[in-house]
Amino acid sequence: MPTPRTFKYQELTAPKYVGEGLLDIPHPLILRYKSPEELIAEFEKNFGVKPTGVVLPAIATDGLMYPCEKIELPLSRYTYATGKFQDFQTTVADFASQEAIKTIYLSIEPTLQFVTTDALHVVDIVGDGSSQVCIGNQRTQELISTILGIGIDKTLAILEEKKSQAKLAGAVIDCVDLWPQGARNDRLELTCFCESCLQYFKEESRSPELIDKFRTFPNPWNLVLKDRGDGIGYIDDLPKGVTETQIIGLSRQKGFLEIFKETSEQELIQQAGFLLDYMQLRHNQTVLALHSIFDEAFKDLEKPELKRIVLLEGIHYDWTSGLQLTRLDDPDEGIPKFDEIWFNPTSSDLYTRNVQFRSYMWRRSRYLIDAFFQEIANAADPVKRNTTGIARFSEEDLRKQLLKRFLGALNTSASSLTSLAALPELQGGTKGSQRVGFVGVAFLSEEQGRQFINTLPIAESGVVTGGRLSRERGPSDLLDLFRQLSESKDSK
Ligand SMILES: [Zn+2]
Repeated sequence: MPTPRTFKYQELTAPKYVGEGLLDIPHPLILRYKSPEELIAEFEKNFGVKPTGVVLPAIATDGLMYPCEKIELPLSRYTYATGKFQDFQTTVADFASQEAIKTIYLSIEPTLQFVTTDALHVVDIVGDGSSQVCIGNQRTQELISTILGIGIDKTLAILEEKKSQAKLAGAVIDCVDLWPQGARNDRLELTCFCESCLQYFKEESRSPELIDKFRTFPNPWNLVLKDRGDGIGYIDDLPKGVTETQIIGLSRQKGFLEIFKETSEQELIQQAGFLLDYMQLRHNQTVLALHSIFDEAFKDLEKPELKRIVLLEGIHYDWTSGLQLTRLDDPDEGIPKFDEIWFNPTSSDLYTRNVQFRSYMWRRSRYLIDAFFQEIANAADPVKRNTTGIARFSEEDLRKQLLKRFLGALNTSASSLTSLAALPELQGGTKGSQRVGFVGVAFLSEEQGRQFINTLPIAESGVVTGGRLSRERGPSDLLDLFRQLSESKDSK
C-alpha cells in the first residue's frame, strides 16, 4: 500500500507556520468549570500545540477580581468558587506552575458596567446616559489604571514568591465595545458625547462646530451606518486614506444613500468630509486614552519589556472601538504605537506590516463573548435587572435570551486547525506580515453553558406585567436596550 501523502494545507498546521499560541481566559466563570490542566489540554487538542502563555482577566463584567484599597466597587461573584473566595493570586500561581506556561498577560475589559458613578458614564449624541464608563474621561482612565496596576503588582509578587519561571509579559485592553451605539427610527445614537468627549472634540477639531453636524438628521453617520430595525448595518471598509468620493460610492452601493433624498452630490461630499474628521478625532482620542491607562498602570516598574496590547474585532474601521487598523499600523501617524494588536483574521489581506499582531481565534474577537457575560451580570444584578432593556423579560424569557446569546457566542468559535492554517504568514515571510502568533480562546462547552444558565439566580424584575413594559423607559436604559440590538450588525 502506498504511504498516504501530506498536502500543503495540512503542512500549514505545523507549529513553525502557526507560531506561538496564547490561551485567553475572557471571564473568571470559565475557571469554575475548567482547571488550568484541562484548559491547556483542550488548547492542545484544538490547535495541535500547547499554549506558551496565558491571558487572565483583571476585571470581570460584574465586578473586580481582587479588592482594591480605597476603591469601593463590588467583587465579581465569579471570584468565588463553590462559595469560597478564589484568590486572584492563586489563579496566577496555578497557571504559573504549569510547565507549558512561560508568559502571563493581564486583560482588562474597560467598560466597567458595575460602576454606578454617573459622571463617568458614556452619553449618546442626544444626551442619554448608559451604564458603561467613558474611557475618554480622565478619571475613568485613572480608575482603570489603578485596578490594572494593582493586578500587575499582585501578579509580580506571587511570581516572585513562587520563584516561578513564568514572567509577566504585558497587559491587554479589550477594545471591542468602547463606544457602544444604538438606533431608533433611522436615528443613530453613537457614543460618547459626555463633557470630556465634547471638550476633546472642541479643542482638537478643525471646526469647532463639527459635533453640530451630527446633531441633525440625516447626518454624516447615515452615510455609513444604517438602522436595520434589528441592529445596525455598517460599512467598515474604511481604511486610512479612504476618500470622500469612495465613501459616497460605498454608501450608494449599500443603499444607504436613500435617506439623503434631495441632498446634492456636493453636499454629500461635504458630509463625507465631516465623517472622516469625526473618525480621525475619535481614533486619536481612543489611542491617547489607552496609552494614558498603560502609562499609569506601568509607571515606576522599570519593566520596559511589558507589552501594551489592544484587542480589536479585525476590520478596517471598527465603529465600536473607534480605531482604524491601518492607522494603528502607520509609522507616520505621529501618535504613540502599541506593541501588539490582537484581532480576528476576517480576511487574508488584513494584516499589519509594522506593528506586531496575533490572530485572535474567535469571530468578532470578544464582542459576542463579552455581550453574553454582560447579560449574565445584568440578569443577576437587581438594579440592572430593573433598569436596563432586560427589565421587560420574564425570568423564563430571560433564560431563553441568555441561552440564545450563549449559543451565538459559542458558534463563532474559530478553534480549529483549519482556521489556523488560513492565518496570514508569520513575521519574516515574503509578504511583510508581522504576525507573531495566535490567541486561542477558552469558553464553556454547550453542556456547561446550558447548565450554568438554568441554575443562574436571576434577580426579580418589578417591571414585567403581562410581558409588557409597565413603566416609561427611563433615559438611562435606552442605550442598554439598544446595545442588545446593535450586536446583530451586518454579518461579515
Ligand atoms: Zn465620553
